[in-house]
Amino acid sequence: MAFKNEYLAKVYEKVCARNPGESEFLQAVKEVLESFEPVVEKDKSYETNGIIDRIVEPERFIQFRVSWVDDNGNVQVNRGFRCQFNSAIGPYKGGLRLHPSVCASVIKFLGFEQIFKNSLTGLPMGGGKGGSDFDPKGKSDGEVMRFCQSFMTELSKHIGADTDVPAGDIGTGAREIGYMFGQYKRLRNEFTGVLTGKGLSYGGSLARTEATGYGLCYFTDEMMKCMKNESFNGKTVVISGSGNVAIYATQKATQLGGKVVALSDSNGYVYDKNGINLDVVKQIKEVERGRIKEYCDRVEGAEYHEGCKGIWTIPCDIALPCATQNELDGEAADTLIKNGVIAVAEGANMPSTPEAVEKFLDAGVMFGPAKAANAGGVATSGLEMSQNSERLSWTFEEVDAKLKNIMVNIFHNSYNASKEYGNEGNLVMGANIAGFLKVADAMKWQGVAY
Ligand code: NDP
Repeated sequence: MAFKNEYLAKVYEKVCARNPGESEFLQAVKEVLESFEPVVEKDKSYETNGIIDRIVEPERFIQFRVSWVDDNGNVQVNRGFRCQFNSAIGPYKGGLRLHPSVCASVIKFLGFEQIFKNSLTGLPMGGGKGGSDFDPKGKSDGEVMRFCQSFMTELSKHIGADTDVPAGDIGTGAREIGYMFGQYKRLRNEFTGVLTGKGLSYGGSLARTEATGYGLCYFTDEMMKCMKNESFNGKTVVISGSGNVAIYATQKATQLGGKVVALSDSNGYVYDKNGINLDVVKQIKEVERGRIKEYCDRVEGAEYHEGCKGIWTIPCDIALPCATQNELDGEAADTLIKNGVIAVAEGANMPSTPEAVEKFLDAGVMFGPAKAANAGGVATSGLEMSQNSERLSWTFEEVDAKLKNIMVNIFHNSYNASKEYGNEGNLVMGANIAGFLKVADAMKWQGVAY
């Protein structure tokens, strides 16, 4: 879709010229700006204050060398990033991704999306993201530790509990956060809540591990209840990925009465018509750091298929993509729709291509976009920050109840915004607008020069 609004068209043209070849970033900016048409048409002050021009440009973008020594004594060099995108409503907040595909475009796309997601949670957090093209897969603990320490030696100059609070993401789990936190503390001689996703023995929050997957299901449940009087009960669910988000989405979907029949990794997917046995998955993925294929060696009747895309050919009522960006394309959307899917909600960031999103919306499939549906992780990170500031720890039940409440509110705020701006039920538009309004208002109040 071309922009009808001239101001948005001009801003987007400039973003394209300034960020050539950054396809993921441009995809994210386009999708978000398209939603803003009715907002900037209705209120010209967004244009006169240059809000859109400013919101698409990171406040700060840091790129640095990360050198470390592998187990054979060889020097390795990776590239580290931190994108501090927007601090209008709070300290920058967003995860650190460790994956070979990490580059400036991916980090900027994630940082940009994070602005609106964090605003949607209702908590005071700005948007940021970081990471490295380091691949933790196949590395020893010692190698991961030396990488994390080197990464933090540089990153520590730019972050702080009141400045920028990174967290986990793909490839950055409890082990990596621990090594990074240890290094920050050594360098700064400070015990502060500078990272979230910490271990429970040193300031982590109960329910943070479960939060993104659980939150995704709370959001999906509310969406189904309010939009079509439906629920997880008795439904067949397909979930892609088998990492942190996928595992805890599987757990909660099952608790809510759904039957999860498939999970995947980047090599292929498993189909278990009897419902995934999560204890087996946790053992393989969380304890042994193995491949999802091994599930079939341990569970009778389960099938393994090479290639991860085929997972979307399995007939289901609810599809929850929880692996990575652009994993669900137009063709996959067609198949899901043909097979009768009623709801799709994104656990991963931008897992559906723009073509797939359009198809779901046109077909009347309930669609929960990532920045709303997967905000439970960062919301609980925000709750971890509050507990660190108070130097208190809340119970699992307290955190889980707050998480549920936040996800229910995110659905309603997104739904109401979609209605107010003339596209009732389009949660892509609703979430973008609801997230944007608060940030834009704060930017107006704070003036132009930062
Ligand atoms: P993990 O690293 O724990 O797991 C990622 C999973 O996705 C792995 O099973 C991985 O398989 C799989 N995967 C990666 N690429 C592909 C692919 N092309 N096709 C199929 N599977 C693939 O990451 P998380 O679970 O933490 O994150 C998953 C997504 O959720 C990401 O988009 C992340 O940004 C998003 N997210 C995460 C949050 C969190 O709290 N963790 C919060 C909000 C969003 P393999 O082992 O083969 O690489």
